[in-house]
Amino acid sequence: MAPLSAPLRAVLFDWGDTLFHAPHAPEVIVSFARSSGVEISEARAREMWDEIWTAGKTPEEIAKGRDLSIEAHRRVWMDLFARLDRVVPGLSSVLYERVMDPHSWVPYTDTRSALEAVRRRALKVGVVSNVPADLRPVFAKHGLDRLVDSYTHSFEVGAEKPSPTIFLAAAKSLGVKPSETLMVGDHAVDRGAERAGMRVFILPAEFDGDVRGLDRVLAELG
Ligand SMILES: [Mg+2]
Repeated sequence: MAPLSAPLRAVLFDWGDTLFHAPHAPEVIVSFARSSGVEISEARAREMWDEIWTAGKTPEEIAKGRDLSIEAHRRVWMDLFARLDRVVPGLSSVLYERVMDPHSWVPYTDTRSALEAVRRRALKVGVVSNVPADLRPVFAKHGLDRLVDSYTHSFEVGAEKPSPTIFLAAAKSLGVKPSETLMVGDHAVDRGAERAGMRVFILPAEFDGDVRGLDRVLAELG
């Protein structure tokens, strides 16, 4: 990261695969398949899911505007999931309902402690997400809402990361300048914050179980 120019006043966090993760999709695949009379091993289910999830993160898929409305979200993801129906009929809908609904996502085991540590440093906390639904109830469900000062959702802003527009909206909502802001994420789209004049920290893709490794962010804060 570049040397600090202005003191930090806020940390923005991406939501998906940074603070929260989807319910374990391979388990959903195995159990739904079994209830349909199809045996799929845990390893095979993981392969199937990894393939879909990786496909979902390509620039072509991201460019489809899936996080601008619930309708677009369902259409774009269901197109991608459709291939799974050849393995187990009906699997695409089950996966969409059980795994893609933001309300079913859960925090990593180190999310709470990381947010608390950021706030102890008297920094504001914002959530910036490409997401088709309000995340406030999702944080509230896990008692994390009091740790977040503002939420900036793509569907409300009408722009998705990596557009600088959504990052600038987040800074404005917290009353801070982009130069006083660190964006933390897991994906290339989060790097768009650099074009908005922010510092950026991208978490490593690999991590241990349900521990995201958010303590690395605290190291960045000094
Ligand atoms: Mg993410």
